[in-house]
Amino acid sequence: MGMTAYLRYNELMDLSIATPQVFQGRKKIVRWGSVIFIGAVTMTALVAAPLYIYQFGVSRSEIILFAVYFIATSLAITVGYHRYFAHSTFKTNPVIRFVLLFFGAATFEQSALKWSSLHRVHHQYTDTERDPYNIKDGFFYAHVGWILFWKQPVNYDNVKDLLKSRLIKHQHEHYQFWALTSGILIPLLLGAWTGHLLGALIFAVGLRLFLVFNSAFFINSFAHTFGSRPYDPFVSARDHWLGAILTNGEGYHNYHHRFPNDYRNGIQWYHWDPSKWIIWTLEKIGMARDLRRTPREQIIKTRQEAEMSLMTIE
Ligand SMILES: [Zn+2]
Ligand SMILES: [Zn+2]
Repeated sequence: MGMTAYLRYNELMDLSIATPQVFQGRKKIVRWGSVIFIGAVTMTALVAAPLYIYQFGVSRSEIILFAVYFIATSLAITVGYHRYFAHSTFKTNPVIRFVLLFFGAATFEQSALKWSSLHRVHHQYTDTERDPYNIKDGFFYAHVGWILFWKQPVNYDNVKDLLKSRLIKHQHEHYQFWALTSGILIPLLLGAWTGHLLGALIFAVGLRLFLVFNSAFFINSFAHTFGSRPYDPFVSARDHWLGAILTNGEGYHNYHHRFPNDYRNGIQWYHWDPSKWIIWTLEKIGMARDLRRTPREQIIKTRQEAEMSLMTIE
């Protein structure tokens, strides 16, 4: 299984990793930094935000700042970290690359380089012990346990293509500076400027991070647990409309695991996939090019083969 997944991954990713690395394994430790940070974000969203609204109400500028930051940073993960950096499903210019790195850092989900490296391992070794967010270790582990209580091995050999960009390298080497500036400092400055410093901390930082975290975490938990498997019945990744709504379109995850180089996850017009719509729009305005699509015939053939593979004839 592991070897099959490995070979198929290479074939699909156009990456030539000559020899699999010796697996160092993950270590069980309490990562206090993550526990405290994610704990504080969760408490802010569930306790401080309702109390603040009860006490002071909420102004239009607070809602706008929250909404803009929420949309920009959650899409920076799905369009940027996931479909652009980890899977190279389209090409773009340095301005868009900077915007994706800027708002991506604001999610406190590590540098694009580290995120992509772990995510490529997830595709390469799905459902095995090497998968950093292996669903076989349980829903909670795949959702957030892997971040809170485990140290994951990271080997940057699988992201050599990304290291060619000085901007990606800079974001990685100065990640904390990027994350604090884009994720906390700028929303607080905008909040102070509009006379709502505390509101900015609670909504544009705390509540926004809580939603962006869980939206990303659902891709590894929900999308590997609930839904159908029309393209590959032997992988835990699944397609579900609710998963798609929770994750900016990443919920068509069975399709994505079968065709990771496709810029689309939801391929029907009625599939909720805002990340796909953004990439398509970027292409229309000349800001993205070379969007990769799996040919229609191949999609249909794969679906039929998946169905056939489940048939048992007595
Ligand atoms: Zn997955
Ligand atoms: Zn992926």
